[in-house]
Amino acid sequence: MKKHNFSAGPCILPQEVFEKAAQAVLDFNGMGLSVLEISHRDKAFVAVMEEARALALDLLGLTDKGYRAIFLQGGASMEFLRIPYNLMKTNGKAAYLDTGTWASGAIKEAKAFGETVVVASSKPDNYTYIPKEYSIPADADYFHCTSNNTIYGTQMKSFAETNVPMVCDMSSDIFSRTLDFSKFDLIYAGAQKNMGPAGVTLIVVKEELLGKTGRAIPNIMNYQLHIEKESMYNTPPVFAVYTSLLTMQWLKNLGGIAAIEKQNEAKAKLLYDEIDRNPIFVGTTVKEDRSNMNATFLLADENHKELFDSMWKAAGVSGINGHRSVGGYRASMYNALPLESVQVLVDVMKELERKI
Ligand SMILES: *Cc1c(COP(=O)(O)O)cnc(C)c1O
Repeated sequence: MKKHNFSAGPCILPQEVFEKAAQAVLDFNGMGLSVLEISHRDKAFVAVMEEARALALDLLGLTDKGYRAIFLQGGASMEFLRIPYNLMKTNGKAAYLDTGTWASGAIKEAKAFGETVVVASSKPDNYTYIPKEYSIPADADYFHCTSNNTIYGTQMKSFAETNVPMVCDMSSDIFSRTLDFSKFDLIYAGAQKNMGPAGVTLIVVKEELLGKTGRAIPNIMNYQLHIEKESMYNTPPVFAVYTSLLTMQWLKNLGGIAAIEKQNEAKAKLLYDEIDRNPIFVGTTVKEDRSNMNATFLLADENHKELFDSMWKAAGVSGINGHRSVGGYRASMYNALPLESVQVLVDVMKELERKI
């Protein structure tokens, strides 16, 4: 039986995508070859890469607006370093908002590189909210924020108004909600939270921002080179790119981000309403900053843990244990998770209340 998969990442993808990807492993495009054994220079794969890059821009509403999309290896963590390499000027500085473990990981890499100002941090409150009052130094080369904090379950609902170029780690909410994406100068996202299998990262960058640091950038770190080589400077992760394309096609056919956003809002409302109603559970974050992707909560009484865990497991629910650094529970409701799965979890929560 297929589980109700609430895993935070790698995570659920549409069933249709699993089936098409499985088929391509056996026979890609009727070529008599597996997608795993073709050359990345084969025109069938070059077409996949081109479509993936174009469709990413299309879904974000950034076609013909001066942006380029590239697919690279190394995970979002690699971009923590590539970003300062490509955007921090010699003797320049960067500004960062610290909203969680991933944001602070990005800050560490930037600090190792050059002057890095942390404009605000919610760390003293265990990252249970998003700081909103802060000022971004006008002379910063860029401002970095994290739109969704996967581990803590907070999500930025608004973004700073600033003339400083905006960089955003959207790893765990890319393609999940409508935003004016043209407000951002660089967006990046590791595939494995909402787009595809682990192994590839999408980077969308305004081209005019690049080439201004005044330093030589090693090839593998250089966005301009990757753009020029159309994500084929070295062997791309063929399968991860192909599967990400399948997910983007699925989303496009569904009606794009606006259509999935409605479903994501309905799923999040269903779960948060139950967390708020049911006295057995407590939410862990400030309400106004709650993430529609990752909902974090605790049992009001830890003694019910064994019973609750056995109940959700019996109901076919998988992956709701909180991140190892914070404990409790975390239900991740990415694009491909059906509303019925959330209903199953909510029914278990209600059942627990009746039992005790
Ligand atoms: C998972 C995650 C990362 C790290 O991604 P890797 O691909 O493992 O490097 C970075 N940022 C956010 C917001 C994440 O959710």
